[in-house]
Amino acid sequence: MEQADCIVFGEHILTMNDRLDIVHDGAVVVRGGVIAEIDSAENIRRKYSSACSVGGQGRLVLPGFVNSHTHAAMVFFRGLADDLPLKDWLEKHIWPAEMRFLNPEFVYDAVMLAGLEMLKSGITTFNDMYFFGDSTARASKQLGIRAFLGVGIVDFPTMTAKTVDEYIGNADRFIDAWKGDPLITPCIAPHSAYACCTQTLKRVKELADRRNVLTTIHLSETEWEVAQLVGSYGKRPVEYLESIGFLGNRLLAAHCVWVDDREIDLLALRGVAVSHCIESNLKLASGIAPVPKMLAAGLKVALATDGAASNNDLNILSEMSTAAKIHKTLANDPTVIDSRTALLMATRWGAEAMGLGGVTGSLEPGMRADMITLNLQKPHLTPAFDLYSLVVYAAMASDIEDVMVDGKPVVRNRVLLTGDEEEILQKAREWGRKVLSAST
Ligand SMILES: [Zn+2]
Repeated sequence: MEQADCIVFGEHILTMNDRLDIVHDGAVVVRGGVIAEIDSAENIRRKYSSACSVGGQGRLVLPGFVNSHTHAAMVFFRGLADDLPLKDWLEKHIWPAEMRFLNPEFVYDAVMLAGLEMLKSGITTFNDMYFFGDSTARASKQLGIRAFLGVGIVDFPTMTAKTVDEYIGNADRFIDAWKGDPLITPCIAPHSAYACCTQTLKRVKELADRRNVLTTIHLSETEWEVAQLVGSYGKRPVEYLESIGFLGNRLLAAHCVWVDDREIDLLALRGVAVSHCIESNLKLASGIAPVPKMLAAGLKVALATDGAASNNDLNILSEMSTAAKIHKTLANDPTVIDSRTALLMATRWGAEAMGLGGVTGSLEPGMRADMITLNLQKPHLTPAFDLYSLVVYAAMASDIEDVMVDGKPVVRNRVLLTGDEEEILQKAREWGRKVLSAST
């Protein structure tokens, strides 16, 4: 018998590989953080033994979800200022609150809460754009969640830097500190083409190319942004970024709501990946990105929650369901964004969008073992005909039982193994009281 670190059993296993293979009565063998083999449970039991056994009958095993754009620490501003337009929300409420509160301790405690919420809704990888990235990285390591972390860059002073030189220096240092880490992948995160001038964006591009890391940016989120860029540069946002040589296949652009056909073609030509943040866009009434057109043009589109202050939860299951339904109605065509496409956007395509396609996002031998089990023995998940539609249209975060990241069980029977849930919630309530008392 060969020894395995852990064996994950499923009545069904959705691999999300190229062929979308499904294994019934199957098992996934984990060794050294990697998926060693996937086969029928019978064959795996004959070949391997392990002290760690997860899942079983009535369980669906699938890759952990990928949240391709968020600001995790903003969970401490959740519900602080809702039902406002993006510009007012950001400039009058969020940025002042951030100026007042952000420090390494705030970000660490907030990311512990955000990570707990994400893991318990099946997210095993997230892309973050924020400040105090070392705190985000440390909290992610503590929780055992995979993180693709961008150092935020803007043209104006914040609590992390006063000048663009300082921001760029911070990003360079952050890349040094975390490059090569098994869970943390550094990237650079200029806020947007309206919060960063041409010179700043060119310096970001130069740094990203020199350090061989990806870049992520907010792009064409609102009509206001388009008007702003047209006013400043005489070009729409995507055309402007193309004109300064910023577009490329190492860029992940969040939102892309207000893009015309020419801009979609440009994004496709340059191989830019897009984070679709449907619930954030709906709540802020920013508009709805033309995702079916993007997919038809060959763009890689992933799903994302955006920050909890604009969503207000960190749950990819509901993003899948909302995205699939909205685009069907908009297109007046129920075949648009079918459940397989929605689940690909939430798993493999999300990983590929952040350059982690060979690491996570599907269950295949050689991939890091990032996976979840879902309890199918629920009224709303019975009977189980099409497993993709079951996950996309009917499953809830509370159906997720076990979560494994990099071969390590981090949630077991809905209980976090890598931290004290009550302590995380207690600290969050304390910070919440401070934020509330300062804003009233
Ligand atoms: Zn965002």
